[in-house]
Amino acid sequence: MKGLVWFRRDLRLHDNPALSAACKECHEIVPLFVFDELLLRSHVFGSACVGFMLGCLKELRRSLAARGLALEWRIGEPIEAVMRAATECSADGVYWNRDYEPAGLERDRTVQLRLAQEGRTVRTFKDHVVFEAEEVRGLTGEPFQRYSAYRDRWWTRWRSAAPALLPIPVFEVTTSTTAAPDSPAWPTAADLGYEPATMWIEPGEQAARARLQWFLRGPVHEYVSGRNIPAIDGTSKLSPHLRFGTLSARTAIHAALNILSKGGRVSRPDVFTWMDELVWREFFQQVLTAFPRVAEGSYKTKPGLPLSRAAGPERDRLFAAWRQGRTGYPIVDAGMRQLNQTGWMHNRVRMMVASFLVKDLRIDWQSGERYFMQQLVDGDLAANNGNWQWCASTGTDAMQGYRIFNPKIQSEKFDRDGEYIRRYVPELAGVSTKWIHAPHLMPQDEQARIECRIGSEYPAPIVDHRQARQEYLDLGKQPVAS
Ligand SMILES: Cc1cc2nc3c(=O)[nH]c(=O)nc-3n(C[C@H](O)[C@H](O)[C@H](O)COP(=O)(O)OP(=O)(O)OC[C@H]3O[C@@H](n4cnc5c(N)ncnc54)[C@H](O)[C@@H]3O)c2cc1C
Repeated sequence: MKGLVWFRRDLRLHDNPALSAACKECHEIVPLFVFDELLLRSHVFGSACVGFMLGCLKELRRSLAARGLALEWRIGEPIEAVMRAATECSADGVYWNRDYEPAGLERDRTVQLRLAQEGRTVRTFKDHVVFEAEEVRGLTGEPFQRYSAYRDRWWTRWRSAAPALLPIPVFEVTTSTTAAPDSPAWPTAADLGYEPATMWIEPGEQAARARLQWFLRGPVHEYVSGRNIPAIDGTSKLSPHLRFGTLSARTAIHAALNILSKGGRVSRPDVFTWMDELVWREFFQQVLTAFPRVAEGSYKTKPGLPLSRAAGPERDRLFAAWRQGRTGYPIVDAGMRQLNQTGWMHNRVRMMVASFLVKDLRIDWQSGERYFMQQLVDGDLAANNGNWQWCASTGTDAMQGYRIFNPKIQSEKFDRDGEYIRRYVPELAGVSTKWIHAPHLMPQDEQARIECRIGSEYPAPIVDHRQARQEYLDLGKQPVAS
């Protein structure tokens, strides 16, 4: 049997169910990756994400080549590309790991049907999550809307049916050894229409596994406090690896449980808190699967949340200031500049900037969601949408509508000495810790002395937080016209 293995969000050899099954069942394998031309042209994702993906593909190509397999690539409409590749290599079967985004599900249904019509076997596998939505359900089979209930059921399921890890498969297959002589060179970011990006997080399976080991040896043991401090490397930064599948969530959970079983310098609450973040990832994935309409709009449509600001020059001015990190709120600006420079932002700061956009500036959360997607190296529909709806108080299990982050208090609490702010907002490098969280309150002579005049070198606050907060709350109380 000849098998075509379609790589998508699973750019690795370890613990890859589709690849392992193909290696077991086929005497010849053709690995394939398809660049979705329409998606790339729509610029839903940005250079950081595309650059990271290309880096992961480069390593995958090398790893496969070392085992005598040439990773083929196509660019175009994925259904047609896979159909053509299956015909060209006379595949008896096509193998892939499942995707759960609405557009991906639709694509996979169509390609599966068409392959079956041609008499080719299709084998699909669970991979992107530890448990698919249907596997973690309430007592009457309903999807969970509360994270805590979902998490408890998720762990019950793990205890009764923890999935095993798959090793790198043995490639006892006749392979396509090297790419065909006329096979075109792999595209660069520029070929795909993107700027080359500096990689702040190293791509590829090896880097993912090394990062996991590093994190589990050290920072995980202080995760409960460390994860809230944006100035330190207190979180795993594995999100882009989980996004592109250079690491499986199964591997991450098994590795974390493994350090618990070894004893020594181990902090159970910290390790469990970290694993529960991976369960958040699965929670949002099951929300998207159970309620695909969240991809198009708010989950909660009931009144009680103020309407967003109307379109117009004022909205555009505020949105531009937020995007550029020029709001006059240092912690918000540091976060947005970290995002723009590196493609990644600390989770605590993601929450602050999202709350600020939606509740202080009253700009619709979808605009923020789209901008994040274009900048993030880990941009993922389920996680991004779920978190934006959480911050906007429109999601299944969301922050209360009246809860509004105070940027100054958050900044004082989580970036006490202003180290994170000074790293990303160099204009404020000379500002003393006394004023770093609200530099507009700095006396004029101090501003002149350190050459950081508010309103010229650094912007004055674009809105007054107290006033914006009150307006938001008042608007929420007004009856909504039917
Ligand atoms: C407005 C907003 C948008 C976000 N958009 C994304 C996104 O597009 N893609 C994305 O992967 N995460 C997103 N997150 C969640 C979170 O910020 C990142 O997963 C986290 O910062 C990644 O860093 P890490 O790998 O060091 O996380 P760690 O703290 O080490 O956590 C381990 C893993 O758990 C998962 N995780 C952690 N927190 C969350 C969470 N709140 N929701 C879902 N999964 C989580 C991630 O896969 C992460 O890699 C968003 C959060 C907010 C508030």
